[in-house]
Amino acid sequence: MIEPQVCDLPDCDGETTFSENCGAYVCMVCDKHIGLTRCYCGWSETSPGNGRSELIEMGETIGDAETEIARDRFAVEFAERQHAYDTGADITDGLTDEEK
Ligand SMILES: [Zn+2]
Ligand SMILES: [Zn+2]
Repeated sequence: MIEPQVCDLPDCDGETTFSENCGAYVCMVCDKHIGLTRCYCGWSETSPGNGRSELIEMGETIGDAETEIARDRFAVEFAERQHAYDTGADITDGLTDEEK
């Protein structure tokens, strides 16, 4: 993806910055999300503040509390495995025979 430098709205020349929160380039002036029309942070081109509920209505699976927790748990598991690799510990526990 080419990094957009300026807002893609014709009447705005704000610079964009990558928002890790949104996973998108966002205009620092008007909050336009480059290439998007709505975002789970709540931003929406057509209905400001309702981007999140619009996405839910569209059937989008977005980061609710439950998936945030699942993602955190995965991150912890991954870190533990990484640590096991680093320390040379046996990490085959919990794997099926094919994976061993
Ligand atoms: Zn956003
Ligand atoms: Zn803008």
